Amino acid sequence: MNSGSKAWDVTVEVMNQCAGSCTGCTLSLEERRHGEAVVGLGEFETAMKHLARHGNQHGMVFRPVLVYGDMPLMPHAMLKGYLDACARNELPIGVTLTLASEGLDEHYAESVQMILGHGDVVLDMTIDPFRLTAKEPYALRVQSALASNGHNHVQVLLSEVMINRMVPEELAAQLESVIGDHPVSIVFTPTQVNLLRRQYQFDVNEAIRYAREFYATRPWHEAHYRREMKRLTCAHGDYASFVGQAFHIGRGLDLYATIFTPFGDLILDGRNGMAPVGNLCDDALEGLPRAPRLLSLQARNAGWLRHDTYGCGTCEHYEVCSFHGVGIANKLYSGHDSKHGTCYGPRAFTNEEAAVV
Ligand code: SF4
Repeated sequence: MNSGSKAWDVTVEVMNQCAGSCTGCTLSLEERRHGEAVVGLGEFETAMKHLARHGNQHGMVFRPVLVYGDMPLMPHAMLKGYLDACARNELPIGVTLTLASEGLDEHYAESVQMILGHGDVVLDMTIDPFRLTAKEPYALRVQSALASNGHNHVQVLLSEVMINRMVPEELAAQLESVIGDHPVSIVFTPTQVNLLRRQYQFDVNEAIRYAREFYATRPWHEAHYRREMKRLTCAHGDYASFVGQAFHIGRGLDLYATIFTPFGDLILDGRNGMAPVGNLCDDALEGLPRAPRLLSLQARNAGWLRHDTYGCGTCEHYEVCSFHGVGIANKLYSGHDSKHGTCYGPRAFTNEEAAVV
């Protein structure tokens, strides 16, 4: 995942608290209730030093993206600690936010001001369309935060509830009334944990149909979708080299692999039944593309793409799916999509027949 032409996004699990209720969320309800740090300030500072040093050695810029919760919700001193650590190490910053708590407008306004005061910042906002319809202060907070920053990623998480209760045109109109012509991504990356809890049904064909229809509703969404697909269909090596540039840092500074798909990014942590591929200590980033667990994951990715369930062997996207780890995504969802039978790669979006049951 790359946030633009210059910086490589590295997600860091800092804090999970969020008052949102999106059913497509990576987090469980229980996780969303807790405001304590997952990667604390001391560890975070260490992580930033490693990212800065590794980036400098390789002529790359990493952008730490603080995930998964609603970051502006945290106490200001704590938030400042994380932001300052990025600034001290001269790293750009990404911040996930939902602004979903009511009665905290002043707190939120101060947090957003503090975040934007730290220079090169991407606001990574998840919007809950149902909340947008029901609560005016929420819509104003979302509108104001996005209007105050020039570089934002905005997403709506797709779920069974979304698909059944709001048609794409209604969603597009709702979003347009609040954030105008800001492009929005439709994300559909349920974790194994949430799927096993039956938080929602998995129907990838419905998700594709919904996303395609949504992107076609407005020219700015269509243009955004085309840009994303162009970015997605570039490959520059093997899967281990992709993860060497786009990884996740979790509790105890464990390093996890990620996957890049047209449905959004997937993080291969415990929520997807995956173990860390390393731990962030001296030289860990240098050695990451050769880490035994990552090489094993790379071999499994290649193996799963060779399983000819979806016709990967003759597919024009084989190389990019190899690079971005889409074979692993296919395997992760295989127990859930057997009735629907489409892959998790670009072909699902680009080939009309691929999405037909
Ligand atoms: S787009 Fe789908 S069919 Fe093509 S290589 Fe990727 S996973 Fe396989």
